[in-house]
Amino acid sequence: MTDPFPQKLVDRFGRTVSYLRISITDRCDFRCVYCMSEEMTFLPRAQILTLEEIDTLSQAFVELGVTKIRITGGEPLVRRGVVELLARIGRLKGLDELTMTTNGSNLEKMAGDIKKAGVKRINISLDTLDPRKFTEMTRVGDLATVLRGIEMARKADFGRIKINSVILKGRNHEEVSDLVGFAVDRGFDISFIEEMPLGLVDGHDRAEAYYPSDRIKADLAHGYELVPTTDSTGGPSRYFRVLGTDSRVGFISPHSNNFCASCNRVRLTVQGRLLLCLGNEHSIDLKRVLRSYPGDLDRVKRAIVDSMAIKPEKHEFDLQKKPIILRHMSVTGG
Ligand code: SAM
Ligand code: SF4
Repeated sequence: MTDPFPQKLVDRFGRTVSYLRISITDRCDFRCVYCMSEEMTFLPRAQILTLEEIDTLSQAFVELGVTKIRITGGEPLVRRGVVELLARIGRLKGLDELTMTTNGSNLEKMAGDIKKAGVKRINISLDTLDPRKFTEMTRVGDLATVLRGIEMARKADFGRIKINSVILKGRNHEEVSDLVGFAVDRGFDISFIEEMPLGLVDGHDRAEAYYPSDRIKADLAHGYELVPTTDSTGGPSRYFRVLGTDSRVGFISPHSNNFCASCNRVRLTVQGRLLLCLGNEHSIDLKRVLRSYPGDLDRVKRAIVDSMAIKPEKHEFDLQKKPIILRHMSVTGG
């Protein structure tokens, strides 16, 4: 019998979806000011996907042509059983690349294990090199622990490590050159991220803190020559090579750039919703399909194929308005 499923996921605008990001937990050991409130209520266990369910869904996506999976959260390394999950996903036939985004707090003890489990590349979030500011921005984090974790990751020999920095006016915007220096010295890439209005966070005014990528680029021009590249991840990053080095600087600018035409990704939330666009609510409930028809992978695959019909053409973000998107990035997976 012939396979009733397509080899590739293609939406109604002709975009091929080959990249899945999975939030495996909404919990985190940090409380970054732009991401979470100080007091967070996390989801009850019954509402979140089990590790087996995440594994099954990953298999369905890979059978439908997804070649790259990024594990994120919340903080993925705080979920119990994460290393076994990574090893299972890492073994899926057809998957070219398993990657992860982490805040680095657990890398000192886990970097070697996650590399062995099959994670090829990692992104590590680091917004400041000042210990006091670091604790202010994460509300609870310790910079020295993260720096030791970053060293461990270097020794574990991942392919290129990338640093992610969210830049906020008045908090860390004066550090952009130092952060590039940190990356260049270690042969890392670095991406600067404009804050996105995802979820309500208390004690923080987003419009006030907005620091556009063009400003960052102008600030960097004093110390570095940035050469445009054609590198693209199909996402909101524009990349530049730092002249005379191995490192690249990326700018993730959802406000100032329209990158939607080349979008190749979808997101699986921690509750098992397949989110077709970060800036819209269009989604389908894959957990419901999975739990209604246990063991029936074809049902899940059919739902995924059908979801391509509702992937929106582009997102809408407006910092001046109240967030229309009430989910936190930690649920969605950044
Ligand atoms: N906990 C991990 C970490 O911090 O790397 C993974 C999850 S975190 C949600 C993924 C990325 O999203 C981080 O680089 C973080 O800085 C970024 N992020 C979180 N909230 C954001 C927001 N409102 N706007 C832009 N980026 C955000
Ligand atoms: Fe946690 Fe990452 Fe959100 Fe910071 S950005 S609170 S580390 S999930």
